[in-house]
Order: sequence, then structure tokens, then C-alpha cells
Amino acid sequence: MATQQASTKEPASSTHQAAKASGVVPPAVPPAVPPAVPPAKSQSQVPAQQHLAGRPTLPAIIEAQEKIFIERQPRSARLAQTAASSLAGGVVSSWQISAPQPVWLSYGRGSKLYDVDGNEYVDLHGGYGVSLAGHGHPAIVQAVQAQVARGTHFAQPTENALAAAAELSRRFGLPQWRFANSGTEATMDAVHLMRAITGRDLIIKVEGCYHGHHDSVQVSVCPDGEDDNLGPADHPSGVPASAGIPKAITDLTLVVGFNDLDAVRRVLDEHPAQIAGMILEPIMMNAGIIKPEPGYLQGLRDLLHSRDALLTFDEVKTGLTAGPGGATGYTGVTPDIVCLAKAIGGGIAVAAIGGTAEVMEHVANGDYEQVGTFNGNPLAMAACRAMLEEVVTPDAYVKLEKLRLRAVAGLEREIERNHLNAQVVSVGAKGCVVFSSQPVRNFRDFLRIRDAYSHAHWLFQHNGGVFLPPWGKIEQWLISVQHDEADIDRFVGNFGDFAAAVRR
Ligand code: PLP
Repeated sequence: MATQQASTKEPASSTHQAAKASGVVPPAVPPAVPPAVPPAKSQSQVPAQQHLAGRPTLPAIIEAQEKIFIERQPRSARLAQTAASSLAGGVVSSWQISAPQPVWLSYGRGSKLYDVDGNEYVDLHGGYGVSLAGHGHPAIVQAVQAQVARGTHFAQPTENALAAAAELSRRFGLPQWRFANSGTEATMDAVHLMRAITGRDLIIKVEGCYHGHHDSVQVSVCPDGEDDNLGPADHPSGVPASAGIPKAITDLTLVVGFNDLDAVRRVLDEHPAQIAGMILEPIMMNAGIIKPEPGYLQGLRDLLHSRDALLTFDEVKTGLTAGPGGATGYTGVTPDIVCLAKAIGGGIAVAAIGGTAEVMEHVANGDYEQVGTFNGNPLAMAACRAMLEEVVTPDAYVKLEKLRLRAVAGLEREIERNHLNAQVVSVGAKGCVVFSSQPVRNFRDFLRIRDAYSHAHWLFQHNGGVFLPPWGKIEQWLISVQHDEADIDRFVGNFGDFAAAVRR
């Protein structure tokens, strides 16, 4: 999830970072558009007098980095201009609009991405948490190629769906599964199911959690602390997350803070026998990364069950990336329903919804019709099976853990060396730098973090050949099974340059 961010502008000044050369397109895969590789910027190209003018301010650093960014991407700029006439906003999803300009990509291979200007990036964006397999992973390529030749759509089950469901059951401890195409569809089914099973309309949602763009969960996603009426932290107001969502629907969604068990108890008390269930990201990943406190998830499960209400974990981001069994495995708490998407398809659009036997009986007996023309599409199922059986193996998780530890140690070293008010939070293949030294245990704490540092960090990484997701403090890195130590070292090196530029 992301919301539009603005970068602060001040007169240009210098930065201590020499924007590093991004690599030239490697020869083996011809780019779709011939690259016009821009010359690498270097420290010597920063006007000398700016170094003498004292330490640049954060807005000045951002401005200088945005200038470098734009100069490296003339072809992206031209495409963005052309696209404005045929693609609304010049992009294919509103989250692709980010300052200073959208980056048009040519192709990806292994752990790397290449833009249309020929710049190489270590891909830690991961397509908003999808690319755990990296790009062109041989197992995914083989599975998809074989299936394309055998037919890409039947709207009938295939054996790959059976194998994928069995593997999901083993990992997440839930016996029965259905497939869909996006995280939004999976969480929509989960909400429908909780309502269908209990015969109740109200649901509970956590402030700052994102569950896709269907009506019931478009409430208090990333409310603006300045313009929106958030209400008190222990009794948050429901704030519509988008235009076009009827209030009659959003009124059915009651909002609580993360890590606040008492708030859930209060909402249940205030609405006896009216709450169908609760949906949350068990580890919040649309507000940086916020982990559940010990006992919180188990407490939710017990509390909800004591009122005959259900618990759904939205594992669209955490599934497979937090560990082999997602946040469910990581925390040891199994909910009634798990929603998966993003990484499970190895780069192809797939979502899955898993449930206990009691929950899924309502799907099996037709009480709730979980449907979709493309559900369990054979191409998606082939990729999903290959992902589960051949890509995210025990060895892959050992490698991911080594890379995580290397990244965390490097970033923490630079934070300390440069006296930054920052901390590193990571889980499995995902992590982020939180620009605050205070603990962040819910969305209200997250709101207090200054986004400009995250944006400046993103720019330094980008100009230094590492692609992080562009949404400042909201998003995280994703390390893929194809990354290596050199990739992590480039990331840490860029962070060191950034940290030196903004050091205290
Ligand atoms: N749930 C979570 C936790 C997400 O982060 C997202 C997307 O970012 C979704 C659901 C929606 O997934 P999709 O964009 O595939 O509809």
C-alpha cells in the first residue's frame, strides 16, 4: 500500500554522496528498448562552492538527489510525458506515481532490474513484496513455459492446484484452500466469509493496516494525522481511505489500534453478538514494519473466539516472506482464516485463502460462493506450485537469513557511526529503516516519524543503483532468493553515503 508523498523543496545545495555509477545493461538479455546509458554522476560534478557553504539541509539534500535522479532517466521522463495522454496519470496503478518521476522498467534478471535508460539496480523493491523468487528464476521459467504450451486457461481445476494447496496446508497449518487473483480478492472473501458464517455485519480492523481496495477495508488505512479526525488512540475514528466508498459500508468497520487488546475487548463489549470477526496484518507491513507484542495475537484469537467471532490474518505481505509459514509460522498463532497473495505466485498473479475445516465447510457446502473466472488459473497454479516446491526451500530460507543478518549489521553500523535517530526492523526477507529511535508499536507512533528521511534514503539508494519501494516510511525492502552478498553490500554502502550526508 502506499499513499502519495511529496518531497520538500529548498534551493539546491550539495550532498556528500557521490551518486554512484549504475551498471550498464548486461549483454545476455537484449533490452526491449535500446538503452541510452547516462553518464555516471560523480562527486566532482557537484559544484565546488556548494561544499564550502556548510552542511546542506535535508530538503537541499533531497533536491540535489532528485536532480541526479531525473538526469539519469531521460527516457523514463519522455515515456511518462507520452503516457499521460493514454494512461490515466501516466501509469498503470496510482501507486506507481511517485516523486520525482515514475521509473519505466525494461526487464529484470536474477536480483537485478534494468530501466529503459539502461540503469542497473539491485531490486529490493520486489514489486511491492512479490519478487521473493527474484527475476527469471529457472524453476518459475520452466513451469510457466511448460504450462503456456499446454494451455493457459480452462476454468477447471488442474493437478498443480492440488499440489499447491497441499503445500500451503503444510506450511500454514490450515487444511483447506481456495485460490483467487489478488490480495484484494482474498481479503474480500475473508470478510464475506466471516460475515456469512456468523450472520453478523460488523468487523474490526486495525488502524494503519491495508487489506486491498474493496469497500469494507478502505477505512483508516493511512489517515493523515493533520487533516483527518483520527479520534483518540484508544478509540480511533474510522476514516474513509478513498473516495467512492459508501459511508453505510465503512460504518460497519470498527477501528482499533495495533497491539491494543483492551480496545478489541471494548469494541466487543460495546457490540454484543454483532461482530463477525477481525482482520489484521499479524505483522504490520504498510507502516514500515511493526511487530506484534508477545501475547497480542494469541490474546486476539482467544478474545474473539470467546465471543463466537473469527480471526483473519492478512498475510498478503508476510506470507512466505516472513518465513516458510509466514507470520503464522513466525508467531506460532494460527488464525481461522489466512489470506495470501504477492510472493506466492513467483511473479504471476495468484492469491489464496485458507481456513479451518469449520470455516471452509461454508465454502464447500455453497453457503458462501467463493468464485472467479480466473481462480486457480493453470498458469498461475503452475507458477505457484514451482514457487512452493522448488524456490522457497529450506536452503533458500537459510540463505535469506544470512543476507538479512548482513544487511541489518551493516545498516546498524552506519546508524551508530553517523549518530542517526534510527532503528532497523526486519522479519525474514523483509526489513526497513525506521527513522526514529523511539519504539513504534502502532500507527500513531508511526505517524510521528518524519517521512523526509525515508524519501532521502530512497533517493540515495536509487541513484546508487538499488531500487527500494518508493513510498518513504510506509514500505520495506524485500530480499529475494537470488540476491547475494554483493547486492547487500551495495545497499549498505549507499546507506552509508546517505547516513554521512544527514549525520547529526
Ligand atoms: N493486503 C496487504 C497486507 C497488502 O499489502 C496488499 C497490497 O499491498 C493487499 C492486501 C492487496 O493486494 P493486491 O494489491 O494484490 O490487491
